Amino acid sequence: AKAACDSIKRERGRAYCVFSEHLRQELAVRSYVIAHIDEAVENGYIEIYYQPVVRTLTGNLAGMEALARWHDPVYGFLRPNQFIPVLEEERLIDKLDRYVIRECGRQLRRQMDAHQPIVPISFNVSRMDFQLMDVLSEIESVVRENGLPRDCLRIEITETAMVQDRNRILEMIDRFRGNGYPVWLDDFGSGYSSLNVLKDYHFDELKIDMEFLRVFNDTSRKIITSVVMMAKAIGIHTLAEGVETREQVEFLRSIGCEKLQGYYYGRPMPYDELVAHCRERHLCAETRQEERIYGE
Ligand code: C2E
Ligand code: MG
Ligand code: MG
Ligand code: MG
Repeated sequence: AKAACDSIKRERGRAYCVFSEHLRQELAVRSYVIAHIDEAVENGYIEIYYQPVVRTLTGNLAGMEALARWHDPVYGFLRPNQFIPVLEEERLIDKLDRYVIRECGRQLRRQMDAHQPIVPISFNVSRMDFQLMDVLSEIESVVRENGLPRDCLRIEITETAMVQDRNRILEMIDRFRGNGYPVWLDDFGSGYSSLNVLKDYHFDELKIDMEFLRVFNDTSRKIITSVVMMAKAIGIHTLAEGVETREQVEFLRSIGCEKLQGYYYGRPMPYDELVAHCRERHLCAETRQEERIYGE
């Protein structure tokens, strides 16, 4: 018994050390992020990656999601979960998201200048952004300055953002939609109030949280099927996140989920890589006419 006890103590001790080392690292990254966000934006350490979104019915490219990446000279590659939550908690997230919105505008302008079909971009906004900046005027000025058609930008708001600031967000969603910008509900099913959120807010599209595909069993398939049916019944488009296998694609097609996004079609990548990737995979951008037929 003594040996067992000593062994547990040793294990615990080690676990504690590993834990505290991990925590120390995390705290270091955290204060680094807070101190360097301005510099990162100014010096171009923040890069926007784009992940393809595919129309299930046609297999064409229906859009792309803008996802922030931080290439740091000191820390190397920082993942969004290392800097987004920190920036939100410290009320600094608008510094990043202003930049992301500007970059999306510039990207769309480049597509137009190259006479490429415009692939609509969706970007993520945080609940905190609504307190820190006027998101709509930011988008409007980007659209105006770049001479963009307004429906080529879509706003993703994560479900968990809806818990607080209910009225403010409700009003913002109405203003976005009233001005012609589609609003998507991100990570649907990940929070505690999914159905309430659908009852109270009007969204153009539901992004079904990837957790339902990660555990791809009979129950989760039934849940996804019901979500797609429910969304159809109330007139909201559907997109499944985290699609990784052929089997999932077949299933989602069979239940009529309209758009698909996930590693199966491509990881988030720099725009130029995405262009090459799409060429290689014979992914064609859908036309505006196709879009009108199938979606928005
Ligand atoms: P999200 O908006 O739900 O984005 C989807 C996340 O899932 C991305 O992670 C993407 O890389 C990942 N993903 C996509 N397909 C697959 C797949 O098939 N399998 C798996 N396992 N993962 C997949 P990422 O880029 O690390 O971003 C994490 C979250 O950080 C985003 O979740 C979003 O909430 C937030 N975020 C990212 N960029 C921004 C930004 O510019 N502004 C704000 N406010 N939030 C952002
Ligand atoms: Mg998103
Ligand atoms: Mg999501
Ligand atoms: Mg997510």
